[in-house]
Amino acid sequence: MPPPAASVGPSCGLCGASAIVHWQRRLTDAEFAAHLEWETGRRERALALTDPQAPPPDFGPLPLPQGCTTTVFACAAHAIALDAAAQIHAKDCTAPSTSDLPGCNCTPEPPQPDPEPDTPDGSVVLPPGWTTRG
Ligand SMILES: [Zn+2]
Ligand SMILES: [Zn+2]
Repeated sequence: MPPPAASVGPSCGLCGASAIVHWQRRLTDAEFAAHLEWETGRRERALALTDPQAPPPDFGPLPLPQGCTTTVFACAAHAIALDAAAQIHAKDCTAPSTSDLPGCNCTPEPPQPDPEPDTPDGSVVLPPGWTTRG
C-alpha cells in the first residue's frame, strides 16, 4: 500500500501545493526582528547554562539583515525563472505572485562573486605531463 500523499515538506507560497523549487529572499523587517529576538534568546539561554568560571562562549556578532535570508518555495506552476531563482531577492519581493510570474517585483541582488582562488592569479600549477582539461 503506497504511503498517503500527505503534503509533507515545503509548500508553494502562493497556492500551497507541494513545492518543487525554491529561492532565497532577504528577511522582512518583522522577520528579521523575530530572528534577532530568537538569536538573542538562544545566546542568553546558552550563557545561562555555561560554567560561570569558564570563559564566556564566543557567539560572534549578532546577525545583520544583509546576512540573513529566508527560503521561498513554489510549485511548478508558480515558479519564477531559473535565473531569478539563483539570485537573492529583496525583502519586499512578493514572488510567487501571479501578476509577476515568471518574474517578480524586485530587482534581485547580483550573484555573489566566486570565493577567492587559492593561488593569487587563479592558476593551478600542475606537475609536468598534467593538463587542466581533457
Ligand atoms: Zn503554486
Ligand atoms: Zn524578487
